[in-house]
Amino acid sequence: MLDHLTYTAPEPKIIQGAKQDWELVIGLEVHAQVASNAKLFSGASTGFGAEPNSHVAFVDAAMPGMLPVINEFCVAQAVKTGLGLKAAINLVSAFDRKNYFYPDLPQGYQISQLYHPIVGEGEVIVDMAPGVARRVRIERIHLEQDAGKSIHDMDPNMSFVDLNRTGVALMEIVSRPDIRGPEEAAAYVAKLRQIMRYLGTCDGNMQNGNLRADVNVSVCAPGAYERYQETGDFSHLGTRCEIKNMNSLRFIQQAIDYEARRQIAIIEDGGKVVQETRLYDPDRGETRSMRSKEEAHDYRYFPDPDLLPLEIEQGWVDDIAAAMPELPDEKKARFVTGLGLSEYDAGVLTAEVESADYFEQVASGRDGKQAANWVINELFGRLNKEGLSVETSPVSAAQLGGVIDLIGSGAISGKIAKDLFEILWTEGGDPAEIVESRGMKQVTDLGAIEKAVDEIIAANPAQVEKARANPKLAGWFVGQVLKATGGKANPAAVNELVARKLGQ
Ligand code: ADP
Ligand code: MG
Repeated sequence: MLDHLTYTAPEPKIIQGAKQDWELVIGLEVHAQVASNAKLFSGASTGFGAEPNSHVAFVDAAMPGMLPVINEFCVAQAVKTGLGLKAAINLVSAFDRKNYFYPDLPQGYQISQLYHPIVGEGEVIVDMAPGVARRVRIERIHLEQDAGKSIHDMDPNMSFVDLNRTGVALMEIVSRPDIRGPEEAAAYVAKLRQIMRYLGTCDGNMQNGNLRADVNVSVCAPGAYERYQETGDFSHLGTRCEIKNMNSLRFIQQAIDYEARRQIAIIEDGGKVVQETRLYDPDRGETRSMRSKEEAHDYRYFPDPDLLPLEIEQGWVDDIAAAMPELPDEKKARFVTGLGLSEYDAGVLTAEVESADYFEQVASGRDGKQAANWVINELFGRLNKEGLSVETSPVSAAQLGGVIDLIGSGAISGKIAKDLFEILWTEGGDPAEIVESRGMKQVTDLGAIEKAVDEIIAANPAQVEKARANPKLAGWFVGQVLKATGGKANPAAVNELVARKLGQ
């Protein structure tokens, strides 16, 4: 069973104005670059960071007479993403031209899907706390081309154009205005990113602009959103502003917070919020007007005559559905119900698909909780400290599994295991061999332990007196024996022997 079937929705964020309380309403348009080696309508490479204008096919540069040819793989990636968002897949969709002029758009239009997107309504469950989640409805996903890049900062007197990104496939994922606070907005983008990274449909590298969001924000009085939900009538909601091109979760939250307060101040002053596009300036922590609705472009959308409607077959969609990997919610639920992990630990382990894979290798054939403890506390703790990730971890899953096996067989104690982990981290090697060759094996030879216990008892008659009167003090002897044996004595055996020798 999926844990999100039993959540309660979080309370919407309330912002106190000078005169009354206000609620936030947020809808996101997320642009996700499709993970694909080739562009949407050409065979040119999508490789990031290449020499400017080295990944440009004739059609990307809009050479006369060149025709776009749809990349089937990109279509499959959009379908896969739609299925991951439990969305309807449209077997017939179509491409439209969105006309505007910009130097990094040589065609003079962007090919997009306005009227008939490839993916219809779906949903994302956004976890806010254990048992608390928000269901955000997806309105649509459409495929479109990315534009190139204008570079203005190389020479103050010149602008340059790099067409490497021109024509790279994007998925625009449009949510309903179901998000009710800045944290939810960030968590929603994080969840989309997580799902797409599990699916392998978008790398989700926000710094590279691989995933960016236009954030629509409005404010309304408490109760207004419920009336919108009941009737579907948007007029119950406030006028929205759209903050363009956000590529940081932190900035998304800051921008929403600022924008909500700005709108509240205008309304409470007796003014009206003007629907417009705004930009967030992270240095000043404020949003600024970019263009108002009156200045909005008339894009003169029309069906692209160079491209036939995109028809796909149900059987092809079914094949993609059959090959879907396990999604984060499903994996998390399995870790909780199947392996007995806490929801918190399961959440940590499934946050990144690479971490989940690593953990599953460690847990395979072993105790899930013990594996989770080692991965979260020892490995992740150490990786964080060194600024590394599981992909660059010096200790492999097989090595960590080996450490756990040595504890399980009684060959080493938990304390020695930590020393062993340290050796593996800095020097590498085979855990069992290291334990053997460095004499780290736990002493379970009762004779040897007994000898150590006897020596310590003989050397400390005063302590013996005290411990006989107060059994709690036996722990001191256990500590001394463990110290004397370099932590290698089996703690259970030491406890038993000390108690017996002290006559307890
Ligand atoms: P457009 O195509 O003009 O940008 P859409 O209807 O496609 O407008 O909406 C764009 C985004 O704005 C969607 O994510 C939608 O959920 C969101 N949105 C619509 N109305 C509001 C509102 N009143 N407040 C906040 N977000 C809204
Ligand atoms: Mg839009």
